[in-house]
This record gives sequence, structure tokens and C-alpha cells, in this order.
Amino acid sequence: MIYCVEDEKNIRELLVYTLEATGFSAKGMEDGAGLFQALKKEKPELILLDIMLPGEDGYGVLEKLKAEPETRNIPVILVTARQSEFDKVRGLDAGADDYVTKPFGMMELVSRVKAVLRRCRRPEDSQELVCGKLRISVGRHEVYFDQRKLELTRKEFELLQYLVENAGMVMSRNQILGYVWGYDFDGETRTVDVHVRALRQKLGEAGEMLETVRGVGYRIIERK
Ligand code: CA
Repeated sequence: MIYCVEDEKNIRELLVYTLEATGFSAKGMEDGAGLFQALKKEKPELILLDIMLPGEDGYGVLEKLKAEPETRNIPVILVTARQSEFDKVRGLDAGADDYVTKPFGMMELVSRVKAVLRRCRRPEDSQELVCGKLRISVGRHEVYFDQRKLELTRKEFELLQYLVENAGMVMSRNQILGYVWGYDFDGETRTVDVHVRALRQKLGEAGEMLETVRGVGYRIIERK
């Protein structure tokens, strides 16, 4: 199930129609309020979220989604008529998985949807990564440090997972962008810094395992 939040009726209907024609189930809502109503009944696999909406705008809706443990892990693709760097960065920093700019081709949209779903699909529940006192349950999307459970957003989780999978190696901002966000957002590496900062804060004591390598990138090192 994919939810399409879009106030322009023609676009909303076209989105739902296209997604259904390519084998997804889809439902349209005209604003944030409609989305939160629908979320009470069913959690979708992905949300297409227009930014310019009546009432609360797409950024506000995104922040609410990311603030709730129940909806935090639902991937979101922002749909925007505006092209400025500011919007893009703001959306990604707020936890969006991708964005498309209007006008977009329907086939392009479908391939973006598929790419995000592929990236977000959960691996086997049993897979576990360990680095020092840090333990990551990949399938359950849970992180523990010294038995204490950490509450991470999905992007923070993927960032940490990537660094732990490559423990000891310095990963460049571009490599991190490519892995966590799927492709290079024109070298929009500030987004990586913002997420690293948030992740480090949540790691608390374990934050010192996450090293900044000046001018290169970041790495996780094992501390006893
Ligand atoms: Ca709109």
C-alpha cells in the first residue's frame, strides 16, 4: 500500500492510477489530516508527500511522521514543485528518503518508488552486527549499546549500519550519501554531517566510537 498526499486532485488521481497500473495498491489523501486519519487504520509501505499542502505543509507532516515510533520507519518521498537546494536539503535532513520535482514523468516516479522500497526492505530478522559494545539487530532495526536500547530514525540506523559494516575504514561523505540515500544528491554532503551529529548525540557514551576524519569522512572504531 502506498499513500499519496497531494491536494491537486488531478495529480493525486494520476499518481494513484499509475501506481495501481504498475501493480501497487495506492490511496490518495488531500492533506496531512487525511494522511494521519488513514495511518490509524493502515500503515503503508511508502508515502508520497507533496510539500505545498493546505493546512500543515509537507515538512510539518514529515516531522510528525518521524517523531512517532509507529510511523518513523515508513519511507517518504517528497513531491515538490520547488527546485531550490534549500528545500532538498531540508527535506533530506528531516528524514525523507528521496524527492521528485514536478513536473515528473510517471515512469520516473514509479522507478523512484521501487528504488526506495528496495533500499528499505528488511533483511533477515536474525542478522546481527557487533562492534565493541554496540549490537545492531539488522532485521528488527534495533541498536543496543551495553544492553541499552537506542532510539534511532531509519536514516540514522542505516548510517550506523553502513559504518559498522565497514568498521575501521573511513567512509567518505559521498559513499555514505550513495549508500544511505541511494544516489548522489549533487554532493549534498551537509546532509551526512547533520545525520552524523544527531547519531553521535543518540549514541551517548558510544559516540566517541564514531570518528570524524577531517577532510575525508567518518569511521566507526571498536572501543572496549
Ligand atoms: Ca500541492
